[in-house]
Amino acid sequence: MSDCLIIGGGIIGMMSARTLSMAGSRVTLLDQRECAKESSWAGGGIISPLYPWDYSDLVNDFSIASQMVYGDLCAALFEDTGIDPEYIQSGLLMMDKYDTPKARVWMDKYNINIQKHLRGGVFKDVAQVRNPRILRALKSDILKRGVEVVEHTKVDELITENNVVLGAKTEYKNYYADKVIICGGAWSSSLLSDDNKIFPIKGQMIVIKAEIDMLEHIVLDQGCYIIPRKDGHILVGSTMEDVGFDKGIDKKVGDELLAFVTERFPQLEGAKIKHHWAGFRPASKTDVIIEKHTQLEHLYVNTGHFRNGLSMAPESANRIKDLVC
Ligand SMILES: Cc1cc2nc3c(=O)[nH]c(=O)nc-3n(C[C@H](O)[C@H](O)[C@H](O)COP(=O)(O)OP(=O)(O)OC[C@H]3O[C@@H](n4cnc5c(N)ncnc54)[C@H](O)[C@@H]3O)c2cc1C
Repeated sequence: MSDCLIIGGGIIGMMSARTLSMAGSRVTLLDQRECAKESSWAGGGIISPLYPWDYSDLVNDFSIASQMVYGDLCAALFEDTGIDPEYIQSGLLMMDKYDTPKARVWMDKYNINIQKHLRGGVFKDVAQVRNPRILRALKSDILKRGVEVVEHTKVDELITENNVVLGAKTEYKNYYADKVIICGGAWSSSLLSDDNKIFPIKGQMIVIKAEIDMLEHIVLDQGCYIIPRKDGHILVGSTMEDVGFDKGIDKKVGDELLAFVTERFPQLEGAKIKHHWAGFRPASKTDVIIEKHTQLEHLYVNTGHFRNGLSMAPESANRIKDLVC
């Protein structure tokens, strides 16, 4: 029997597993698929909320705290696993108007500096990671730390007795633990009593290939963004679709995303879409949920990170560790 049973092996589940394991807990992590193939894989890897002044203090506090440790975290993962998460502080060029009263309040509060740019303002501190890589590194790291990772094993329901959670029931066997933590991303509601608490908001994204260093910064304009990777790949995203768990992609959307980038950077004219995909952000009607469950003993929830799960993962994991331990 483990100390902690984590349901869900995305960035949130695996970061929580790492942090709890480093604090001395014996951790088992279950995923219904292979770990890290859902939202965390699909995301852009920008380590900052987009338009952060539109988010709650909770999201901002967790994001800023996470931003401060991301560089060291990625360096440690690289050293321990040999997998480079490609953390780059590329800065974010905002082409939208950023000097609004609301944005100014946020900038003053968090002491954010902006560098003027011909096409807008650059938020110098914003970094990026390459999601599939940080996820591979995390999985390798937690395995080395002795976390038991069980894949292709869906949790059907929690095992409870007198309002105390004892573990999780799967098709194959029951898993028991002192504490159970739900990190099921957009699927988390199926394990919580409130069916609508967390729901999927689909995002479509494309990648094109350009010459290395063609773009210097991440670019944000009118809700869409462009992320230049180290090897010349450029990600462009993303849509916000409230369509349930439909992962289909739409060619028209792919073409629109391509037009978005070539209109702003004509030097990319002629680039072809290499890949086009979709993922489900875990959205909630309230805010991110990082808490001890209010009705069931020994149950914890770390989910609802919506557009900011990569950005908030380290501090969310710290918070869960503090609650659990
Ligand atoms: C297109 C797109 C772009 C994004 N860009 C960014 C960005 O630039 N920066 C940023 O910070 N965030 C971004 N996000 C958001 C970010 O990806 C999510 O907030 C984050 O990945 C959520 O992580 P998670 O671990 O909660 O969910 P997931 O990665 O979805 O992981 C949940 C896991 O739980 C498993 N699971 C669910 N139910 C069960 C069950 N019953 N039994 C067993 N396993 C189960 C699933 O298989 C899955 O592996 C983006 C998202 C999308 C879709």
